[in-house]
Amino acid sequence: MTARDRRQPPLLLLGLDGATFSVIEPLTQAGQLPNLARWMQEGTARPLLSTTPPMSFPAWSSLQTGLAPGEHGLFDFTQKIAGAYRLRFTNAADRRGTSLFARVSRAGGRVLALGMPATFPPEAVNGLLVPGFDSPLSAGSRSDFASDPALYRRIAAKIGPWMSPDLNESARGDEWRERAVATLLARIERKTAFALEALSQLVQRDGTAPDLISIVFSESDTIAHHYWRDFDSHSPRRDPAASAERRGAVAAVYRALDVACGALRAAVGANAACVVVSDHGAGGASRRVLHVNRYLEQLGFLARRRAIAQLPERWIRRLRERVLAHLPPVATQALFRRARGAAARLESCARFSGFDWSRSFAFSEEANTQPGVWINLRGREAEGSVAPDDYERVRGEVIDALRDWKLPGGAPIIAWARRREEVYAGPCVECAPDVVCELALEDGYAHSLVPTPWRASTSPAIHTLCEEEFAGGRGRGMNGTHRPEGVWIAADTETAKLPPPRDLTEVAPLLLTRCGISWQADDGAAKNRDARPYTAEEAARVRERLRALGYLE
Ligand SMILES: [Zn+2]
Repeated sequence: MTARDRRQPPLLLLGLDGATFSVIEPLTQAGQLPNLARWMQEGTARPLLSTTPPMSFPAWSSLQTGLAPGEHGLFDFTQKIAGAYRLRFTNAADRRGTSLFARVSRAGGRVLALGMPATFPPEAVNGLLVPGFDSPLSAGSRSDFASDPALYRRIAAKIGPWMSPDLNESARGDEWRERAVATLLARIERKTAFALEALSQLVQRDGTAPDLISIVFSESDTIAHHYWRDFDSHSPRRDPAASAERRGAVAAVYRALDVACGALRAAVGANAACVVVSDHGAGGASRRVLHVNRYLEQLGFLARRRAIAQLPERWIRRLRERVLAHLPPVATQALFRRARGAAARLESCARFSGFDWSRSFAFSEEANTQPGVWINLRGREAEGSVAPDDYERVRGEVIDALRDWKLPGGAPIIAWARRREEVYAGPCVECAPDVVCELALEDGYAHSLVPTPWRASTSPAIHTLCEEEFAGGRGRGMNGTHRPEGVWIAADTETAKLPPPRDLTEVAPLLLTRCGISWQADDGAAKNRDARPYTAEEAARVRERLRALGYLE
């Protein structure tokens, strides 16, 4: 690896998860985001295309490695286990390629990286790396989850943990809604204070600022998922009775992030390079909830077992709900360890049980992000029913069926459906579903993908929400969802002179060059050797956290 050119200034990478110009532009015009407005004017601002699917895990992984999902191997929070009708949680150990942080460290540079998703378990870096919201810290950050536990403890002793369980996103009711904004604002302040303290301790220890300072805030994403309908007066899910506080929630969080960005850039110094980036954009949800497996069943691709055999599934769901209903206090966690491991297995059971695999030719994981479909291929799947000679024919039929899926008015539901090798290239293409697709928008609003509620034997494949269901929550999707167009702001004039990245895979080469380190392409062949897989308990904790955030049903 090339040694770092010492004459380069430090680089500040400010990550705003799910940030979108649809919010930033009106707010800058209204004078509410003075820092971002000035940076956009002095530098450049462009939409930045996310990954397929536009989700935090694959997207931040592409930003870190410069690789596309087919190359780095992370497609979502979960991954279907090869040959089994089961899911598992992915993490940085599943990722291929060398990260930006490792590249800077190996070139002799120093790194401060806080809060970036898909960095758990942390890599060894020259500096400090604290993973993002996906690390198993639903009960608060633990110092041993940081790359330098002693340094983490010194910072946390003054400021408090980087993350703490101060918001139960799955809670319901207006009381939570009013409280959530204040909680998110407090969280942004604490993260900013944590980052400033980390910076000052590293400067004290090493004499100069780290070469790469990467701070990612997840609050822009959380607020959009829960308050988009209050922010957007055209949202089909809007609530005319929303309070002024609710209507101002998205703007309040963006304003706080603007203040945070300004404070961090001021601390790093005016000579620093600075970019603001998001992993994907955000937008509103339509009133439609889609059940892909119900649609496949209606067309004869998927078959259920007889009614009597479906009883255990109901019990499994109920048991799973009981197990996950409460977060146990730290002291009793050990007692729950086994129950949590069981919970992860129950998740797969709830999703894939009850099918008659001998009569099932295609099925979906029903992840809320990806309407992808697997072919039940003989020789590959545990109870495969489609002969290898029929694979392409069945795959073509599934693609046709998805393209034919229409809303009651006749509008298409699917924007495109393709064979996975038409969408991805690289050593990890086989981790993707056989058919990959993207949903079409309805008047600019996105449909929600939710697992089929098989208990209701007549539930339709397309469910239109009634007014009481607009806020979202279990079975209803979230009222704000992701969009492929994220944000790129090159705040300093030197970075603004570089050709802006067209998509997330072009960010790492640009940032590294800006750090004075030459980019050497990575073929993605190497696994992330520093990282280890989750333990069963950690996987169950991650599951809880994702469920609380609304990413899992
Ligand atoms: Zn999100």
